[in-house]
Amino acid sequence: MSTSERNPWHSRRKFLQHLVASIAAARVAGGCGGGGAATDSEGDSTGDSTGDNSGTTSEVPTTGVTTGEPDLEPPGEPFTLGVASGDPLPDSVILWTRLCPQPLEDGGGMPDEPFPVMWEISADEAFTQIVGTDTALSEPALAHSLHIDVKGLQPDTWYWFRFRAGSFQSPVGRTRTSPAFDAQPERLRFATASCQNYSNGYYGAYEHMAKEDLDLVIFLGDYIYEGGLGGPARTHNGPEVETLDQYRARYALYRSDPLLAGMHARCPWLTIWDDHEVDNNYAGAVSQDDDPESEFLQRRAAAYQAFYEHMPMRLDPPTGPEFQIYGVQRWGDLADIWLLDTRQYRDNQNCEDVPGPGCAGWAEYDGTLLGEAQEDWLMQSMRASASVWKVIANQIVFSTVNFNGAFVNFDQWDGYPVARQRLLDFLNDEGFENLVILAGDLHVGGAGDIGAVASDEDSPVIAAEFVTTSISSSSIDDAEAINGLVQGLKRIRYFNALSRGYITHEVTRTQWAARCFIVDSVATPTSPGRVDAELFIDVGVPGLRSDG
Ligand code: FE
Ligand code: CA
Repeated sequence: MSTSERNPWHSRRKFLQHLVASIAAARVAGGCGGGGAATDSEGDSTGDSTGDNSGTTSEVPTTGVTTGEPDLEPPGEPFTLGVASGDPLPDSVILWTRLCPQPLEDGGGMPDEPFPVMWEISADEAFTQIVGTDTALSEPALAHSLHIDVKGLQPDTWYWFRFRAGSFQSPVGRTRTSPAFDAQPERLRFATASCQNYSNGYYGAYEHMAKEDLDLVIFLGDYIYEGGLGGPARTHNGPEVETLDQYRARYALYRSDPLLAGMHARCPWLTIWDDHEVDNNYAGAVSQDDDPESEFLQRRAAAYQAFYEHMPMRLDPPTGPEFQIYGVQRWGDLADIWLLDTRQYRDNQNCEDVPGPGCAGWAEYDGTLLGEAQEDWLMQSMRASASVWKVIANQIVFSTVNFNGAFVNFDQWDGYPVARQRLLDFLNDEGFENLVILAGDLHVGGAGDIGAVASDEDSPVIAAEFVTTSISSSSIDDAEAINGLVQGLKRIRYFNALSRGYITHEVTRTQWAARCFIVDSVATPTSPGRVDAELFIDVGVPGLRSDG
């Protein structure tokens, strides 16, 4: 399906004709930049795309255009936020960019009207083997972001892509498709990352991550922080964000970081949110400061929309305060990765959400973290899975780290003990093998075995958990002292509360190898780094070993 011989990038006249036709078609369809609707990628992606590979440039009729020739030139360099890709399927991947000449201004410096963007995807880095190209319309209602659902790609294959708006060309992004659903891939290599408070530190970790040989990045939450100016490394662009324009500018500030943008251009990402994409420690419709629910839901809707606009997600844009982001990423029969949302559907934190000794009855609190619909979906989807590895990627720490109730963090699974045990009972009763849980949130690195009974540290091991430390967010208080306490827990195999970094996971049909990478400092734009710990899981043997 090569279209390189009629590649419109190099033909001004054809470009114009195609552009006008595309605008007319998009207006008729009422189209704006949504990808497919499927979050559960068990089948083909669905939904319309602004960027169908419909192809030719000169044969498309140009009648019906009522708006005249559009202004083709953006008011300034539009690709300040770089490019990204995500949510790969065997035959498609989502390509992302946003036109944003003035990242911190309302509207991003773009005129308040749709603006055409050309995209192309190639089988080679030099763009001599173009396999898809078209023009899509970026819409002001979505901050001139684009989510192109490129279809018809080959499974398990790398591609390169770029965009063009007027005379401006974007950086080149590298992306890939997943293996066919019935394939038996030998390997998946991905990194987990979380918690990148821009004001707390620099993103030197991403410079190291970009040198890793990765198929995917999984971002586990706290992509932005909503708070005010902050520090100490650099400052946010204003006070705490609450409106759509403010959330957009906050994402634009973060994505303007060259190391973060660079990592998005290296491979596809899977992104889930935690609390700071909206409001610290919010729970469902309950804000940190107990704002009136209707007010907070308006804020949540703005935050969710801005998240969508800046992430390469295979979703239609949200239309209100509800936005279902949970889903499963398959990698042939090697791994199924369930990406959860433990924020939107949770009951309020128990015990006034004050970490410390549990209040009366804390161990019997039966609040939900996933909500009924997500929990049912997870269990059904896991039951139907035949993958070698079963991976639950979520925001918050699953392991029991409450020191027998002496210090409970009510924002994580420790604070929802009945819901946690219900999930453990399910996992145990089903007899799943090769279970791995991924978490972030705490700004500590850790790994531990998960027992069948959360309150019994001698119960049989049924899973392993990796907690990814923050990219840049500050250490928890008293990190030195907490290091000693947590390292003494029976189930914990690795713990480092002092360092920032990420984890790489090399998954094969016989072994899982996790390497916890840390940087020396986030006080400087870049930093030396090293592998702090290596942990392994052997297929068929529950739990971690650290001897290689
Ligand atoms: Fe965080
Ligand atoms: Ca968090």
